[in-house]
Amino acid sequence: MQSLWDFLLRHVGADLLGHPLLFTAPILTTVVLAGVGFSLVDVFVTRHVALKDAALYMAITLPGYVVVFALLKWLPLAARAPVPIHAPGAFEFLRDMALCLLIGDFLSYWWHRLEHRSRAIFRHVHRVHHQVARPLSVWSGFYVHPVESACVFVAFYLYPFLVGVHPLVFAAYASLNTFVTMVTHCGYDIPGYPKWLFASAPMHEHHHERTKKAWNYCVLLTLSDRLFGTFKGEAPPPVHVSASDRQNGQRATGPSQVRPPAVLPLLLAATTWPGNTRLPSPLSGHPCRQPSR
Ligand SMILES: [Zn+2]
Ligand SMILES: [Zn+2]
Repeated sequence: MQSLWDFLLRHVGADLLGHPLLFTAPILTTVVLAGVGFSLVDVFVTRHVALKDAALYMAITLPGYVVVFALLKWLPLAARAPVPIHAPGAFEFLRDMALCLLIGDFLSYWWHRLEHRSRAIFRHVHRVHHQVARPLSVWSGFYVHPVESACVFVAFYLYPFLVGVHPLVFAAYASLNTFVTMVTHCGYDIPGYPKWLFASAPMHEHHHERTKKAWNYCVLLTLSDRLFGTFKGEAPPPVHVSASDRQNGQRATGPSQVRPPAVLPLLLAATTWPGNTRLPSPLSGHPCRQPSR
């Protein structure tokens, strides 16, 4: 790990590695890579999403990617985190990754649980996310109210930000966190995925079945749900509708097929694309398991 860190110090530079918003770069990189990967499967393998719909989501994401890197490069932020000369040792890396995951899971769990237990917060904030149609797609997690985006972002990244974990740990945690939260909405039961440890699509599909008295609040680990008595396992297989059938008017079963405002993956925390109610929703045709037809 030291050789990687030396390489980054030499070629990226201490100024950028100490930037307080550097962790947004691995987040956006993961969004783009996972988004492209799952969208390719959606469009060309399982054919549950039309090419133009997937292309639109990518077209929304990629400019955000460019903007984030522009902000990192040119935003006149004087503050810089201390940049260590040494890479973290194996023990430090694993310890800090575990703490980031545990605390991020704990805080996001209780925020999510509060969203369901408070009538006002659910109605005015979290309802946006529960309006996405099932089965879910890899982009579904970004359909959230901006207040929710900001709160979840704080829950996930408060600890590593305040403690000042090593930039390599922060980058690894940000990438893993983003990947797992995208997987929970991807609509696929991925073979070999460690569902006992990380929140998964079948588990989160189960959450989207309910609004009041919901369960499976975790979107990172499964631990908080298990500790606080809200772990309910996996959802039954949804009824699937392919992209072509959907164009012919057939609809998937599940909650409503509304099209809520989209949130630019760019910000993940703060910005809703205002008034965008015309985005095609590829969320209604995913297989979580085997197609039923
Ligand atoms: Zn919820
Ligand atoms: Zn969700």
